[in-house]
Amino acid sequence: MSTPEEIGIQLVCPDCRSELLRQPERYVCTDADCRQTYAIVDGIPKMLIDDAETLPEEDWRKTVTGERQA
Ligand SMILES: [Zn+2]
Repeated sequence: MSTPEEIGIQLVCPDCRSELLRQPERYVCTDADCRQTYAIVDGIPKMLIDDAETLPEEDWRKTVTGERQA
């Protein structure tokens, strides 16, 4: 199945319009004040603000900076 990026679509956060970081199971908003995450279910991103979860700031920072928790 093609991801949105593969067909040339850059997804943005529906809340704040910042770029989203693609992860295997979710998209993460790259805006430090927003920090919403959008689940990907069966390859389809659930881009609904109502379904989004806000990452704690520490988790968000680790995610966007590429660090891994032990
Ligand atoms: Zn956002």
